[in-house]
Amino acid sequence: MKFIADTNLGKLAKWLRILGYDTVSHRGKTDRDFLRKAQREGRVALTRKKDMAARQFSGKLVTVESDHVQEQLGEVMEKLSICADASRLFSICVRCNAALVAVGKEDVAGMVPAFVYDTQSAFRRCPSCRGIFWPGTHIDNAFNQLKTHIQRHHP
Ligand SMILES: [Zn+2]
Repeated sequence: MKFIADTNLGKLAKWLRILGYDTVSHRGKTDRDFLRKAQREGRVALTRKKDMAARQFSGKLVTVESDHVQEQLGEVMEKLSICADASRLFSICVRCNAALVAVGKEDVAGMVPAFVYDTQSAFRRCPSCRGIFWPGTHIDNAFNQLKTHIQRHHP
């Protein structure tokens, strides 16, 4: 499943990428072009604009109600029946939405902080921005919080 998010949903787009979903952020207005792009690329359209649902659109559209990113994520996952899957974490670059490539530990020597190098074993690189990613504790914590949050509301 792929997504396109309107300009009001930048944080949500980031989180969907963290969860491993190909998600583009639409930079222009949330208008016909937004829907056309969604349709052309087979993406689920995510918007905060309530009137978008009334537009003629044969693709899938989710109107996001909440202002808070965790709740927004919960809404999307519930409406589309998708679940957070830890094995998909860090498969997409959070910054540029490119698919990350696994790299060997020796390839990132000197490119990540020493304590990260010493404590982590799995690294991935973005072919577009060359950023290096690894599963960090802050992401693990956020992911677990998110799972707890979603499970609490949608057991
Ligand atoms: Zn990147």
